[in-house]
Amino acid sequence: MYNEIMKHEEKVKFNNYVVSHLLKIAFSASKTVFFKNVIFPMVEKGIRNAIERLPGPVALPGVIDDKFYMARAMVYSGLRVGSSSRFANTIVNKAILSDLRARKEIIFREKFGFDPPGFMVISPAKRCNLRCHGCYANSASEKDQLDYDVFTRAIKEMRDYWGARFTVISGGEPMMYRWNDKGVMDIYREHPDSLFLMYTNGTMINDKVAHEMYDLGNITPAISVEGLEELTEQRRGKGVFEKIVKAMKLLKKHHVTYGISITATRYNAEEIISDRFIDFYFGELGAAYAWVFHYMPIGRDVDPDLIPTPDQRVYLWEKSWDIVRDRKIMYVDFWNHGPVSDGCISAGRPGGYFYLDWQANVYPCVFFPYAAANMKEIYDRDGNLNDLINLPLHSCIRNWQFRYWKEGDLLRPCPIRDHYKMAKKFVIQTKARPGDDAAGEILQDTDYEKKMTEYDEELRKKTTDIWEDVYKKGIERRTAVKIHQTTRR
Ligand code: SF4
Repeated sequence: MYNEIMKHEEKVKFNNYVVSHLLKIAFSASKTVFFKNVIFPMVEKGIRNAIERLPGPVALPGVIDDKFYMARAMVYSGLRVGSSSRFANTIVNKAILSDLRARKEIIFREKFGFDPPGFMVISPAKRCNLRCHGCYANSASEKDQLDYDVFTRAIKEMRDYWGARFTVISGGEPMMYRWNDKGVMDIYREHPDSLFLMYTNGTMINDKVAHEMYDLGNITPAISVEGLEELTEQRRGKGVFEKIVKAMKLLKKHHVTYGISITATRYNAEEIISDRFIDFYFGELGAAYAWVFHYMPIGRDVDPDLIPTPDQRVYLWEKSWDIVRDRKIMYVDFWNHGPVSDGCISAGRPGGYFYLDWQANVYPCVFFPYAAANMKEIYDRDGNLNDLINLPLHSCIRNWQFRYWKEGDLLRPCPIRDHYKMAKKFVIQTKARPGDDAAGEILQDTDYEKKMTEYDEELRKKTTDIWEDVYKKGIERRTAVKIHQTTRR
């Protein structure tokens, strides 16, 4: 046994050594003509072959194309920003070269009949140091924080039961989390073999924090922006933009791979895909990736009218692919890029996730505000993370996802947003608990339901032909859009 462990450690050390040296060579060589003309085409061919060999549950020509272009953009984005060898080591050794996931999949599959979830999103603190318009964190108190033992145990169990070593940390502002003098950086330090993506407003990232992130090598912050300076300050407050830009410069100085996160609304939909926006954050400031989340009318002061209109949604779909395909930037539009993830990833589906909040409530998804269980209560009765898998709400959503792979349109992947009536039925049938008063109230709100279902119907009309032509028949995206003459706002 001892010998086996030693062999394993030597192997890890050797891998670390090889990967960091290969990366150094790759980063400098990637600027050469030889790399561009010879190596890149080979890498691209390799990515394409791998996706075609394992296309996933929805093996349509347009879906394979989307997966290829996104994977390619991910590689180019990594090379463009020159991720630190520590960070790249965490990804390569812990995710790509490790056989942990494969081993755990066998055990999980035997028990549940499908592959395990791939990650969790955890919001350890509701509170925040900013007061953005419409954000629930405004009303949070110090009590709204996740018990540290639950926090760290969930991350450990993900690895032990699912072979999953990726955690998304969200908020409130995660950097505000304190539990008996421990904060999120302690979590990152305690789990060196996991990778963390942290959504943050960026204002608490100073030189020391940026250096610590580099040193840990297992954390990538995604800083929230609403657009360029004017739109960001309109929502986040005066002076915030300058602090954000400063944080980005510090992260770049310390070679921390970072990205941006954007809430798309009816009012910023055009700006966030403009050349000016992309040039500024990716060209000038060195962001590696973007996550776009369309405004979701949940929480306090819900306003369905803020959702990008169905026309804007199609426009964002079309333009986001220009950014991914032509500029090779990892720009992920969470809803519009449903084909990349084979649709909805909620409710612990294979490779998908659960959401754990500051009260230890567990939801199918960050945007699905109805909880099926509480993790602290599960631990108090000697349960574990696997107890979440077959809870009625989760099984109900998963069965729908599996059916949807066969008959659905992955440009409308979201049960709660794009199929609201059905999601509401699941919530009522399974007696899921509203996460807050607002989530309870909207279940009774007929006006809300009317707006959501009207949106769903209008979106269906806009995407059905695109799904048929671009994804099923493989017609080129721009040609198909021209044919359908998408009306733009
Ligand atoms: S429920 Fe909607 S937002 Fe959540 S993972 Fe599924 S598609 Fe995405």
